[in-house]
Amino acid sequence: MNQIHNPSNLAAIDLAHHLHPFGDMKQLGEKGVRVIARGEGVYIYDSQGKKYLDGFAGLWCVNIGYGRREIADAVSRQMNELPYYNSFFGTTTPPTALLAQKITAHTGGRMNHVFFTNSGSEATDTWFRMARVYWAALGKPTKTHVIARRNGYHGSTVAGASLGGMKHMHEQGNLPIEGISHIGQPYWYAEGGDLSPADFGLKAARELETKIDELGEDNVAAFVAEPVQGAGGVIIPPDTYWPEIARICRERNILLVADEVICGFGRLGTWFGHQHFGFEADLAPVAKGLSSGYLPIGGVLVSDRVARVMIEEVGDFNHGYTYSGHPVCAAAALENLRIIEEEALVERVRDDIGPYFAAAWKSLEDHEVVGQAESIGLIGGLQLAADKSTRQRFAKPDDAGVAVRNHCLENGLVMRATADRMLASPALIITRSEVDQMIETVRGGLDHLREQRLP
Ligand SMILES: *Cc1c(COP(=O)(O)O)cnc(C)c1O
Repeated sequence: MNQIHNPSNLAAIDLAHHLHPFGDMKQLGEKGVRVIARGEGVYIYDSQGKKYLDGFAGLWCVNIGYGRREIADAVSRQMNELPYYNSFFGTTTPPTALLAQKITAHTGGRMNHVFFTNSGSEATDTWFRMARVYWAALGKPTKTHVIARRNGYHGSTVAGASLGGMKHMHEQGNLPIEGISHIGQPYWYAEGGDLSPADFGLKAARELETKIDELGEDNVAAFVAEPVQGAGGVIIPPDTYWPEIARICRERNILLVADEVICGFGRLGTWFGHQHFGFEADLAPVAKGLSSGYLPIGGVLVSDRVARVMIEEVGDFNHGYTYSGHPVCAAAALENLRIIEEEALVERVRDDIGPYFAAAWKSLEDHEVVGQAESIGLIGGLQLAADKSTRQRFAKPDDAGVAVRNHCLENGLVMRATADRMLASPALIITRSEVDQMIETVRGGLDHLREQRLP
């Protein structure tokens, strides 16, 4: 092994020169970085050769699993044919046009256009401007305010971090920017009090109505939310929530933006998360599962209602990225969607592995330190609790989550913790025995937490 590829050397080189996103650099200096070197199916391997089941599909994105030759081949073909051309000033490339057709084909005929970006954050910035431009073109230039939710996540650009409702992000860089307000989240376990989940869902949704009244309907452009909050802790809203939100947006004439960056492309057993919950979105940012993370690409799905105005009234939207619709990224996404269709992965999640995962995940609820185990499709949230009979949480929620997560990691399973919620989001190709293996390791992590006897 040469100098450069020596694993411990690589970690040292990385620490010396790589400033990490969302990673405590001081802690990394003490604990070291993990170098992930290879992936196959649902497994990843670090540079020491240790194997992990990736219960998180990278960052909620490797929907078709690692190591798919078909994507590498499609990318290589496109690289040789045309490595780059832009979509500005009236041009396109073959994979860009075909990808636009393929994505929109899964929206039930409602969203027939897409605007391409390179990431979910850029998709957020794009719809944020588009929503304002839409209302201005309709002669309502005061409709600019956007309402979002506390503990939502919409990316890390200035608009993305502002729309997100993460306090630790707002604290850095003087955010949020003007023109954005936040309402509560439908997180029954922590915030539902004595209400039933159904009543709490209505109450949380009606905060939107109150906020619109406060701001004035003529000043509000849009409401944005993830169908299921991902980074916030896989928070699955009560059934009453989304129909009520949709009613309010319709009656008060504000755009409903469904952030599909995690929920899109099969995660919930539907092509898009809003389809699972049965509501219609006016705009829908996508990324992650669009290419299964093989190359960076995102976009905003645009409903016919908004597209008509953007095309007929606005005409020239002065917005775009050098790499919008990048042909090589588009070729990767096109092949990814072809695989999802050919292997019927969305149906597999809905009818087969999703229900299997749901039952296995739910079985964890009998554990002493678990308050609630919820899932939809292949996304799961596990609420840790100090006393499940009273919904009493641990005094230091972060410590509880970290204890389980680290134990899982030591035992070959990548999980994520948001405070005292354990999050799972495996690749859509995961097998039943791999689900079993995952659940068994999580159970070991829960036993470990119980033994810690945290207050
Ligand atoms: C990841 C994520 C984003 C941001 O996407 P990036 O590609 O990281 O910029 C936006 N919204 C949601 C719901 C996400 O999970």
